[in-house]
Amino acid sequence: MTTAPTSLSACTRCKRLYSEMLSNAAMWNVNFFQGYPVGLLCPSCQTPDEFLEAETNTANLEGTELVTLSSVDPVKRAEMVVEMIYKSAQSVIKTHREKAERTGETHVRVNVETWATEATAGVLVIQGQPESVRASARGIAMDYINGALGLSKHAAKV
Ligand SMILES: [Zn+2]
Repeated sequence: MTTAPTSLSACTRCKRLYSEMLSNAAMWNVNFFQGYPVGLLCPSCQTPDEFLEAETNTANLEGTELVTLSSVDPVKRAEMVVEMIYKSAQSVIKTHREKAERTGETHVRVNVETWATEATAGVLVIQGQPESVRASARGIAMDYINGALGLSKHAAKV
């Protein structure tokens, strides 16, 4: 059996046919390998993690990258979302620090998980996404907060 070239007219998982006329056409992902399109993924077959993580962690995909079929540069858009999460996390840290200063506390009780939830709540594009996407976003925020506060993962749980 010879290896058939991947058809770019249908979803690689469910074989649903792609058409530019579809109302969700812009949400289909095209999978590139070394610059060549090798597969399509329809919106129903993209797990929320693929939707967010595949776009934010292109470095982990070893030469492949997922790009939506919309005109927006998706790498740039993913970077912007991560940047928004970082900015929001920064302001959450600042708010808690200032609150502690106002009330005269000498140290701030850190709940990284709660702060990460507050940080993602401040990023509008994440609202309305499935829970697993918001969970990924919280993970990004938690990593950032841990890093910003110089916390190790187990210390953050105290
Ligand atoms: Zn599909």
